[in-house]
Amino acid sequence: MADLIPFDDRDGSIWFNGALVPWRDAKVHVLTHGLHYGSCVFEGERCYAGRIFKSRAHSERLIESGRILGFQVPYTAEELDAAKAATVEANGLADCYVRALAWRGSEMMGVSAQQSKINVAVASWQWGAYYQDLRLTRAAYDRPAPNTAPIHAKAAGLYMICTVSKHAAEDKGFGDAIMLDYRGFVAETTGANIFLVIDGALHTPLPDCFLNGITRRTVIDIARQRGIEVVERHIRPEELADAQEVFVTGTAAEVTPVRAIDDLTYQKGPVTEALMDAYREATRGGHAA
Ligand code: PMP
Repeated sequence: MADLIPFDDRDGSIWFNGALVPWRDAKVHVLTHGLHYGSCVFEGERCYAGRIFKSRAHSERLIESGRILGFQVPYTAEELDAAKAATVEANGLADCYVRALAWRGSEMMGVSAQQSKINVAVASWQWGAYYQDLRLTRAAYDRPAPNTAPIHAKAAGLYMICTVSKHAAEDKGFGDAIMLDYRGFVAETTGANIFLVIDGALHTPLPDCFLNGITRRTVIDIARQRGIEVVERHIRPEELADAQEVFVTGTAAEVTPVRAIDDLTYQKGPVTEALMDAYREATRGGHAA
């Protein structure tokens, strides 16, 4: 713990309901609906050489996540894009992570909170590689069924089972957990989508009960442009043994090779390498805004 710099005690600025405020002043009260009832949605984004990759898609997803949770984010996608850019600039950052979030405030404290104010904040900080030498183990929890949770929202509450699962994996010496879905099919990790390379083709779970990641869609587009076959389908856990390569995708994770899933081991192979290079080019190369 000694070397951790707490996130509430740093220099810089945070965009908070329309204005940049000193980092340490960006506070909420303990009686905040988002904290008690999970009425919070968020985005994780990466900025490369001063340009936030797919900023508009992330802004639109934040608004859509709020809509799914029954609230209107009080800014347009254009305004959110501008807020994010202003935050990065105010902190003097060029290559960084960007966290935007929206949550119900303190006006009402009960399950019903129809009159609560919707707050929005954007923070930004330096964040290196998300995974190192990634090895996965089976998660404690499964992804919930679409009729049991707002599965297409990037909602804070959905991460409760991710943190528990990731902690259990870390306690066993793994980097992350691989979550199955409510039917027992392979779903994703606690913060990234998963791909298998089987005989030169990419196989990836259908995103019918988890986040269809922006990185996932980017990598699928890149693969198809390069003539790599992409198969979106239900994948049984036994099929993990058929893969020659496995990798995960996410804004923070980018394209990260998976070295092992419990007893199965994988090499970083040519398809993964090619997609890592192509994703690096897409994010830093100046296209696909
Ligand atoms: N699944 C989960 C659970 C995630 O947290 C993330 C990261 N946002 C992803 C998938 C990947 O999504 P994206 O590529 O849009 O970052």
